Amino acid sequence: MQDLYRSSNAILPIASRIDGMGVSRILQLAQLAREMKADGIPVIDLSAGQPDFDTPENIRAAAKAAIDHGETRYTSLDGTAPMKDAIRHKFKADNGLDYKRTEVMAGAGAKQLLFNAFMATLNEGDEVILPTPCWLSYFDIVKVAGGTPVAVPGSLESRYKITPGQLRKAITPQSRWVLLNSPSNPSGAVYAENELAALLAVVEEHPNLWVMSDDVYEHIRFGNAAFATPASVRPDLANRILTVNAVSKAFAMTGWRLGYAAGPAGLIKSMSIIQSQSTSNPSSVSQAAAVEALTGPQDFLSIARETYARRRQVLFDGLSKIAGIEATPPEGSFFAFVRVSSLIGNQTPDGKVLSDDAVLSAYLLEAANVVTVPGSEFGLPEHLRLSFAVADDEIKTALNRIASAIGALNPSKEPVK
Ligand code: PLP
Repeated sequence: MQDLYRSSNAILPIASRIDGMGVSRILQLAQLAREMKADGIPVIDLSAGQPDFDTPENIRAAAKAAIDHGETRYTSLDGTAPMKDAIRHKFKADNGLDYKRTEVMAGAGAKQLLFNAFMATLNEGDEVILPTPCWLSYFDIVKVAGGTPVAVPGSLESRYKITPGQLRKAITPQSRWVLLNSPSNPSGAVYAENELAALLAVVEEHPNLWVMSDDVYEHIRFGNAAFATPASVRPDLANRILTVNAVSKAFAMTGWRLGYAAGPAGLIKSMSIIQSQSTSNPSSVSQAAAVEALTGPQDFLSIARETYARRRQVLFDGLSKIAGIEATPPEGSFFAFVRVSSLIGNQTPDGKVLSDDAVLSAYLLEAANVVTVPGSEFGLPEHLRLSFAVADDEIKTALNRIASAIGALNPSKEPVK
């Protein structure tokens, strides 16, 4: 698929730093779904990585006011003073953390902050420990920055979390960062405070190892799952912890491109230098909107959470009735990550063997017109990711279609492996 996005007659050679990289498969799938819909095919897209809500009214109003007040010019590179104070307010109110203005910054989405951090700290050969399954962009951002991603796999049995023993084994003299993402995309796993404490005890033994915590799904949790973030769990290690967050997922603001980070002043300064030579300040209007998101009424968060909780229930009620799909409901995020090992090797009605999760996902698109994302995209094959950031009715229809498509498969005569 990658070739589709590269010019075959390019005159300039493509830099080796993007060898093997392409537009994320998820974006490609979303594009394919749009094209199929435009052709009149009734596709249901369960690949969505974003809330389907509109940005709350008060936030939109703040943005409009900012435009009318002339907040349309360059701002301070790493965020306006009100933006920085709103970020500090958020960390204090939600996480009990105190940061100075020099210890926080805003950028164009959480992704920009992750990029800044790796560009600012990695040298060729430095390693970044990535518990998998994880958001695939982590791998590519680390590689663009010259680092080496080191995957540490979780499994359905470990609820897709890694253990302190696994972390200890992955650490080498080249390890610079371990990147934690709780609640997780794609697995929805949430590390409890004591689980984080156990991982951080291992980090403590290695003074050159830093922790990056991607908290973008902080507010999307279910049942009793409590949120914990490394800097709150071990304030004594905060001098080597970077926390990245964004208004994107929490406040249905993915298009506004506004993320933020908090950590030691020296690191934040280095990250600002990278930002100064790439995107520069995040949009002035988006900053004004984000100030309202972080400091204004917070009731949208619980409304969104209740909606996701209901859809999660609908999805798992249906999935539990489909033979060949193994799953436990996620504690957070809006994704179901399901194991499909027993379907691999089955044959489609026209005799095609489902040789891996990507072929299974393609079959579901063709036979059920449902877009799913193969687990191999997140570093864990034989799984699929299904988003429940879509309307209840669509989830129900998708489940019926998936059930019939899977029901039509012929079991393999012998195990594939
Ligand atoms: N981190 C994770 C785990 C994500 O899933 C995403 C988006 O899908 C991001 C970061 C990017 O967030 P933003 O849109 O704020 O750049």
